[in-house]
Amino acid sequence: MSVTDDHASDAFVLGDVAPSDVRVRFCPSPTGNPHVGLVRAALYNWAFARHYGGTFVFRIEDTDASRDSEESYEALLASLRWLGLDWDEGPEAGGDHGPYRQSQRYDTYRDVAARLLESGKAYHCYCSTAELEERREAARAAGKPSGYDGHCRVLTDEQVAAFRAEGREPVLRMRTPDETVTFTDLIRGEISVDQHNLFDYVLVRANGHPLYTLVNPVDDALMGITHVLRGEDLLSSTPRQIVLHEALRELGIAGGPMPRFAHLPLVTGDGGRKLSKREPESSLQLYLDRGFLREGLLNYLALLGWSIGGDEEVFSLPEMVAAFDVTKVNPNAARFDLKKAEAINSAWVRRLTVDDLAERMVPHLQEAGLFAHPPSEASLELLRAATPLVQERMVVLEESVGMLGFLFAGEGFAVDEADGAKVLTDAAKPVLEAAASALREAEVWSTESIEQVLRAALIEGLGLKPKLAFGPVRVAVTGRRVSPPLFESLELLGRETTLDRLEAALNSLP
Ligand code: GLU
Ligand code: ZN
Repeated sequence: MSVTDDHASDAFVLGDVAPSDVRVRFCPSPTGNPHVGLVRAALYNWAFARHYGGTFVFRIEDTDASRDSEESYEALLASLRWLGLDWDEGPEAGGDHGPYRQSQRYDTYRDVAARLLESGKAYHCYCSTAELEERREAARAAGKPSGYDGHCRVLTDEQVAAFRAEGREPVLRMRTPDETVTFTDLIRGEISVDQHNLFDYVLVRANGHPLYTLVNPVDDALMGITHVLRGEDLLSSTPRQIVLHEALRELGIAGGPMPRFAHLPLVTGDGGRKLSKREPESSLQLYLDRGFLREGLLNYLALLGWSIGGDEEVFSLPEMVAAFDVTKVNPNAARFDLKKAEAINSAWVRRLTVDDLAERMVPHLQEAGLFAHPPSEASLELLRAATPLVQERMVVLEESVGMLGFLFAGEGFAVDEADGAKVLTDAAKPVLEAAASALREAEVWSTESIEQVLRAALIEGLGLKPKLAFGPVRVAVTGRRVSPPLFESLELLGRETTLDRLEAALNSLP
């Protein structure tokens, strides 16, 4: 079932579809927060469309009023926008195949369902839940397949009248063929499902509500989707959907080629469990809050099942677009590895220009109350000057608060309690005093002269080891035992504030 190399070509992927006619879709249900598996699906579809110069359709599958929310819908749009995964058709963008929210397409589904019924491709089933359950049990006990048994495939008018008289409302079931359905998955190769595993499935509930089984393939067909890239969890529904696609084409409801399918590997968490939507580390919001860069996050998500080749792990979106080949996606589950995600992100932090990185830290500093809305020009300037001090060591932007907060805290500055207790002890007193007087006397306020006078006063003057000499100064002035390089930090902070903080630390000593 492997895809051979000759197949791994555009001809295999595209068939008769011209590259620019490629149409893919991202079609989430707006329930809960967008999660990483979903975003990876969006990314792969987007990269696929952009690789061929095709169309990326964004459709909202909001037919479950009990679970869907407007909030989640907004979050989906905001997420794609933030990531820069632009869509050609869909909400806000419009397009020739709209509306793109399934909740606005019920008329279409009603019509399609009626035509499926009328043509005999689908039929009414009057079985009650209890009856279905009873027969399923019996089949199981007899060691037979326990899916729907086709009971209502052929009903006489009298039978139907009798069911109606009892007040039964029918569901609509697809009439699946008595033959094997085979398709070629672009990642997994040929997949066959025989008729014994292809039961007549429900398309429309008794209350008239259409199900995913109907609306998803109907929209793919009506929207001219040529390629369906989606999670492996939907692999088992594909043969059934192919049956419906064929029916829609036979009835002339849809034209165009049958979509080609590619089922993306599951994303698993620690220990190989499926990374479920409900786990906090699966939520995209967590990565936004921590200050992952869009480049870093997308780069890492791209690696969940695909690689650009060679040993290269850090690549840009345009590089991904140029190289993306869906046949090279790994069918095996991809483990979400936070450490790796962080490593990729920090590589991207280092790739940014100083000004760009500074700008991206601003929302986090604002969130912490360190920057105004909008930030003052002076604080931006200071931030840009400080950025090179942290760029090499920052993994995610939220760290900017801890690393650079001392520069912007103003009156709100406070020494970290634990660090203060450890370092600002009796023994620190002569160190802080000597540092303060040396810095007060320094002729110029520059990194070099700060270093020079502090070394002279503390290392030569007091005969201290660097750690004991600079530790108390660092904690007194930056508030923490770990800070950006000390002398540069003092220069940026300015003489006045530095001296004030040394004095405050001295006053706080026991
Ligand atoms: N709304 C479906 C889901 O989010 C879409 C599945 C598909 O891509 O076909 O699971
Ligand atoms: Zn039935």
